[in-house]
Amino acid sequence: MLVGMRHLSTLCAAGVNRLRYFLFPPACPFCQRPLPEQGGCCVCCHEQIHPWPQEHCQQCGIPLPSGMAPGPCGRCLRRRLPMQCSESLFVYSGPVRQAVLQWKLQGRDHAVRWLLAVARARIQGIIAPADLLLSVPMPIGRMRSSGQHHAASLARWLAEISGAAWDWRVLRRRGSQPRQSALSGIERRRNLRKAFAVDADYWASAGYQAKRIWLVDDIQTTGATVYHAARALQRLQRPVCTLTLARTPDGGSYD
Ligand SMILES: [Zn+2]
Ligand SMILES: [Zn+2]
Repeated sequence: MLVGMRHLSTLCAAGVNRLRYFLFPPACPFCQRPLPEQGGCCVCCHEQIHPWPQEHCQQCGIPLPSGMAPGPCGRCLRRRLPMQCSESLFVYSGPVRQAVLQWKLQGRDHAVRWLLAVARARIQGIIAPADLLLSVPMPIGRMRSSGQHHAASLARWLAEISGAAWDWRVLRRRGSQPRQSALSGIERRRNLRKAFAVDADYWASAGYQAKRIWLVDDIQTTGATVYHAARALQRLQRPVCTLTLARTPDGGSYD
């Protein structure tokens, strides 16, 4: 009787799998090409996904020439940034860029979640469970119109993977600014200089004990956004590092 029931449940499971395969045929999360099984991505997209180089400047995160000793890059020897370190998970190009655009423009986060699953070990190596993740805030008007807060979603997913706490209310955005991607580097900096502020009352009431703060954003291009957001966080008198999902290949100069 027991053997018969086990056989029946195996048959049912196989049937469910066949039905799932029929209803949701496996496809590459980036280009939607059909795949032989669920969970992977196609060879073509796989070859174009580049993790951000692990050998990078400890302060600004820009890749260092291979063979160079770990430490600050030439620029960071002469400047002091508001962040102690800068980490990014992927180079913002090819399928990674596609994944971000799917997420931000169409609300489909499947490919971005896939990338985070792939980067799980690296994320756990970067963020300690005792750290605190704070997302870069969006202008209120844009958050209302899109109904989404991408940096906050990213901080939440990173918190699930790392075991760290996360919060989206500590850092606030003042007023409403135009979309950063539409501006030149000089305009971005002018626009961002006074855009961020810490909510001191909220911070005091939250009582976070974390010794290190990770400022989380989705994309880093010039670095102007994380630079000014990190500068506002200096008020908390804790070491601040930045972590972005992806960064443009030139890395951003911050200046
Ligand atoms: Zn593909
Ligand atoms: Zn540097």
